[in-house]
Amino acid sequence: MSVLEELKSRSNGVCELCGATDNLSVYEVPPVSTGGVDGSVLACNTCIGQVEDPQTTDANHWRCLNDSMWSEHDAVKVVAWRMLSRLKAEGWPQDLLDMMYMEPETLEWAQATGEGVAEADKIIHRDVNGVVLENGDSVVLIKDLKVKGSSMVAKQGTAVRRISLDHENAEYIEGKVDGQQIVIITKYVKKI
Ligand SMILES: [Zn+2]
Repeated sequence: MSVLEELKSRSNGVCELCGATDNLSVYEVPPVSTGGVDGSVLACNTCIGQVEDPQTTDANHWRCLNDSMWSEHDAVKVVAWRMLSRLKAEGWPQDLLDMMYMEPETLEWAQATGEGVAEADKIIHRDVNGVVLENGDSVVLIKDLKVKGSSMVAKQGTAVRRISLDHENAEYIEGKVDGQQIVIITKYVKKI
């Protein structure tokens, strides 16, 4: 079975975050090192779009986390935790966060993208020109890059949309090239 099929059977064919039944696809929860069924969530377009692009986040959509934060699957809990952390200034998300319980290693995974970390404590990612990069930004590669662990070369000029930041390391971001999630070094990208 493909990851998509396995997730559909795990979730009974609904978005594991909001329960929607249409436009479902696999959302690989960053960082990519986890991957597979355990590292992914079946989610609808609306949820994935808002998770990946903080600027489009609609707080009311995420009332659904009231249910999904109790999922038995770590990947779902991690996404729920990140969205609640992003929205905690609204008040009710903070109340839900206070009720949520995660194993320490799951919490560590949830925190790996820096969601919910105070601005001052954040590792700042910058492109080749020193421009600050955020989750959800688009960048273009300024040189050909060999992709670690594969024979693929990501070509200079390739646009990478909806990047995610590695919050352990200011020099790394992740993004999809040719449908494959890869790690990219910030000094080889330019924000677009
Ligand atoms: Zn959804």
